[in-house]
Amino acid sequence: MKANSFIKVKSLEEAYNLVKESPKNKIVGGGLWLKKGNAACDKLIDLSLLSLDKIEDKGEFISVGAMVSQRELEKSPLIKDIGHGVISKAVSEIMGPAFRELATVGGSVYGKYGFSDLITALLVVKTKLVFYPDAELSLEEYLAKPGFYDGILTHILIKKCHCKTFFKKVKITALDYPIVNIGVHKCEKHTFVVVGSRPGVAAISKEAQKYLEEGGKDFEKAAELAVNELKFGDSISTKADYRKHLAKVYIARGLEEVSK
Ligand SMILES: Cc1cc2nc3c(=O)[nH]c(=O)nc-3n(C[C@H](O)[C@H](O)[C@H](O)COP(=O)(O)OP(=O)(O)OC[C@H]3O[C@@H](n4cnc5c(N)ncnc54)[C@H](O)[C@@H]3O)c2cc1C
Repeated sequence: MKANSFIKVKSLEEAYNLVKESPKNKIVGGGLWLKKGNAACDKLIDLSLLSLDKIEDKGEFISVGAMVSQRELEKSPLIKDIGHGVISKAVSEIMGPAFRELATVGGSVYGKYGFSDLITALLVVKTKLVFYPDAELSLEEYLAKPGFYDGILTHILIKKCHCKTFFKKVKITALDYPIVNIGVHKCEKHTFVVVGSRPGVAAISKEAQKYLEEGGKDFEKAAELAVNELKFGDSISTKADYRKHLAKVYIARGLEEVSK
């Protein structure tokens, strides 16, 4: 990736005006994904002067600034407290610590990467996204919309919840992308099953949720409903059938785990 200039903006308004000026002007978080791609950039817009690097307790939810690094997110006691540490666990399995010091929450969520471990974990516990200038929507809504929001992701708001949660990243080697990742969360009457890296982006199984919330007790059946509802595909590393098989096994295992 090549860029013509690097601008440390002094306000969100300045950043937004630059984004609107040209599709070749890009917000830069850690820059790791941007660097990997070959997209032509004119101006790289850096948000590091805007105090978006804080993790704060806001009562019912934890607010995480877009410039918080994956490593800070992983280590934060406030984040470890949510869903039995599901977010910290998911992030801790992304590459190595030096990589996670650079990669940001904003770049990881905004990008809607199909393989994202963080998105699967954030989807299973409830998360809202705050965009400048004027949007607040759930992560689920953002993922379902085609394309990307035409603004700046400033914060994510994660619901505080201490219920049991399961996360599994299946990978071929230690530092690999996931073949598939699974999140399961049971909270009061609700049970959520999320499967990511199918290779499509993480999604909640509504069929499994309905079955379990109507009193279904057979976890194998719930897992079967989930994998039949969600689409699985081939990628260079894995075939759809193998992904589906793995997902089914780990969903059932996750449901058992959160029901203990
Ligand atoms: C080699 C490699 C291996 C990886 N392996 C995994 C893995 O196994 N599991 C996993 O979950 N992830 C993995 N990732 C993804 C990684 O965890 C990050 O999600 C990714 O690098 C994006 O974070 P970043 O801060 O580098 O974003 P950047 O590269 O800076 O930005 C990514 C995109 O988001 C936009 N953007 C950034 N911040 C904002 C903002 N605040 N508002 C609006 N737009 C914004 C940028 O313009 C760009 O389009 C991998 C990445 C790489 C490069």
